[in-house]
Parts: sequence; structure tokens; C-alpha cells
Amino acid sequence: MSCSRRDFVSGASALAVVASSGFATSSISLATESEKKTIRYAMVHDEKACIGCTACMDACRETNKVPEGVSRLEILRSQPYGEFPNVQYEFFRQSCQHCSNAPCVQVCPTGASFVDKETGIVDVNPDLCVGCQYCIAVCPYRVRFIHPEKKSADKCNFCRDTNLAVGKEPACVEICPTKALTFGDLNDPNSAVSIKIRENETYRTKVPLGTEPNLYHIPFKAGEKK
Ligand code: SF4
Ligand code: SF4
Ligand code: SF4
Repeated sequence: MSCSRRDFVSGASALAVVASSGFATSSISLATESEKKTIRYAMVHDEKACIGCTACMDACRETNKVPEGVSRLEILRSQPYGEFPNVQYEFFRQSCQHCSNAPCVQVCPTGASFVDKETGIVDVNPDLCVGCQYCIAVCPYRVRFIHPEKKSADKCNFCRDTNLAVGKEPACVEICPTKALTFGDLNDPNSAVSIKIRENETYRTKVPLGTEPNLYHIPFKAGEKK
């Protein structure tokens, strides 16, 4: 799927929803809570290393049995930069940000959407989900969908119940041929993900909303911010 840079930063309507619901104002208390967690999983997508092969998307679909027509993870390709034949593309990972201050969890009326206390992963319990779609409406990153077979809300959960459950890294991280993805515990200063963030210029999207996303990007061109 192609997408312009402007599309990457769209979401003004989501901003309005969040702002009017007051989610941003409660970020401080929830952040404090997240800091107490033993583990806080995060991911870095190095846009300089990504070649847009989409192997991560396929691995996610296969590992987590995601049906065709919906997706937990997309790699969005920008418009071309430069003149043919010296054309470059920028690739952007779109997936759940595992927000420390997650509006999807706050609006869920049944407790189906939750933050895993041990890891900070935002997940969905399909047995509790009634399919009301409140969480889909309020997610500023537009990464949730109704699973066509389970009829419950779904999205990336860092392979919490698949690869992580058997001691492996998320499927996307495992498969990436260029090591563009780094996953790990942000509360551990010596983890690969902490080191990656410390040693590179990174950015996160829609930070002013107060969601405190845990998906970091190393920009395609140094200094660019979306
Ligand atoms: S990106 Fe969306 S679905 Fe994921 S935790 Fe944040 S608000 Fe929830
Ligand atoms: S669709 Fe399911 S997970 Fe989302 S808000 Fe409704 S009950 Fe909660
Ligand atoms: S597998 Fe790696 S290089 Fe390929 S699109 Fe995904 S992040 Fe980029």
C-alpha cells in the first residue's frame, strides 16, 4: 500500500476525540503507573534500514492467524523521492503503539481491552469483547479492527500469546532481513531497544495527544519529524 507523508501524520479527528474525552489530561498518573512495571516492552523501526519487503507483515499474519482483509501491521510506502532512476522510498510502520496512556483501554466498557500488568503490552480479551467498536473509534493511530472470524476487536499484541509465550521475539522482528526492527524492555537500560533509542535520533507519532506511545522510529532522513 502506498501512502503520502501527509497521510502518515493524519489524525486530527482522533485528536479531537481524545482531547474532548480528557484522555490526555490523565497521562501523568498512568505514566507513573507504567514506570513501576518490571518490564515495559517497546519497539524501534529503523526507517533507514527498512527496505519495504513486507516480510514482517506476512510473518505477523501467519504467526497470529490474521485473516485476509484485515491487518495488525502495515508498512506504508511514501511517494518517490528523487528523479528516476535514482528514486528512494520511505517506509513507515503502522501498528499498535502499546500506549502507556491508552485511550482504547479507557473507553472499553467490558474490560476486554487491557494493559498487561507485567509487560505494559496493550491486549484484547476476545471473550470479554462485545464488539461495540468504541476502542476502534478512539484509537488515534487507527490500528484496531474487528476480527472477521472472532467478531472481537483485534490488533498487534507484540505476539504476546504466540511468539513471546514460547520465549521468542515477535514474528516481525524475527523475520526482518535487515534488522530494521528492535524489540525489548525499555525499563532495562542495557536492553537492545534502550541502547537503540539512546544511540540514535528517534521520533514517536502524535506525542502531543498524551498517549505515550512505545513504538519508536529512526527517521529515514536524519532530523525529519512526522
Ligand atoms: S495505538 Fe491505539 S490500539 Fe494501540 S494502545 Fe494506543 S490507542 Fe490502543
Ligand atoms: S470493541 Fe471490544 S475491546 Fe473494543 S471497546 Fe468494545 S468491548 Fe472493548
Ligand atoms: S521485514 Fe524489515 S525490512 Fe522488510 S518491511 Fe518489515 S521492517 Fe522493513
